[in-house]
Amino acid sequence: MNSDEKTLVQVRNLSVTYHTRLGPVSAVNDISFDINRSEILGLVGESGCGKSTLGKALMRMIMPPGEISGGSILFNGKDVMQFDQKRLRDFRGRQISMIFQDPMTSLNPVQRVDEHVIEAIQVHEEKPDKEDVISRVKALIERLGIQERRLRDYPHQLSGGMRQRVMIGLGLVLNADLIIADEATTSLDVIVEAMLVDQLREIREEFGVALLMITHNIALVAEIADRIAVMYAGKIVELGDIKEIFDNPLHPYTRGLLRSVPSIRLDDREELFKMSGEPPNLTHPPSGCRFHPRCPEAMPICSRIGPGMDEVSPGRWVHCWLYQDHPQKDRSTIKVNA
Ligand code: SF4
Repeated sequence: MNSDEKTLVQVRNLSVTYHTRLGPVSAVNDISFDINRSEILGLVGESGCGKSTLGKALMRMIMPPGEISGGSILFNGKDVMQFDQKRLRDFRGRQISMIFQDPMTSLNPVQRVDEHVIEAIQVHEEKPDKEDVISRVKALIERLGIQERRLRDYPHQLSGGMRQRVMIGLGLVLNADLIIADEATTSLDVIVEAMLVDQLREIREEFGVALLMITHNIALVAEIADRIAVMYAGKIVELGDIKEIFDNPLHPYTRGLLRSVPSIRLDDREELFKMSGEPPNLTHPPSGCRFHPRCPEAMPICSRIGPGMDEVSPGRWVHCWLYQDHPQKDRSTIKVNA
């Protein structure tokens, strides 16, 4: 497979801006990355870092006062920014679908489960055969571990885990190429969460669908993802293979995130790390590198000039002056958080 065949989504220099009374908020700032076919990409970061906005931007679901203010999104080689409303409706569902933390926000409370799935097929397929639709729905629901009799239930009669599986089913029944799961397991208890994560992994194998897992929970990403993108204040600051990043995080923010995850090893008595400072207000983001006010390794250049996103080894991208040269770079560290 050459790189074009391997790439499902190609995002370049994407920016999203919200126009608020307090001024423009740069929620996603000049981000570039790819999603490969059938891969699981974890997108992690603190609340408010722009990860959900990025997920919605991929579906062109940014509503006013927000807008995609720059950049491009290619999906299967097609320019999503050029889609008209009809093409967009088809795109959302047939090629890409999204599941949220609370599936009740997406499911119609007065529609039964089977009606949801049948409607999804009827909206996107021309004159589908009724018998075929019903047998596809039954097979899929069974595959997702939901008993056939539950097809006639309303969303409120299902557990949180079942509702999420119905949402996954709505993506799979149309053979979507990408499912975006935005904090989809956050409201579930740990056992149901573990089952859903297992199921997502199996679904990827069986259906070849790619998954973008958006979460604040870096430990969850470790269990399921092939690659990880770490986001801070509207920027992707580190991107690469999951094992490489967990074994050797390069960006100071990624290091802090990993040190703040509790270990279950009994002999691990190291005190949990707490990152100093607060995420910035994106109405007035810090100059230069947006992480510099909190960074224990900040150098003089960091507050003046923002670094680029550099490929430090094949497939490993880091947005940090520690790995880039510049004539104005002076390696003395400013001990802002020592
Ligand atoms: Fe820290 Fe500077 Fe790297 Fe930003 S660019 S993460 S401030 S060392």
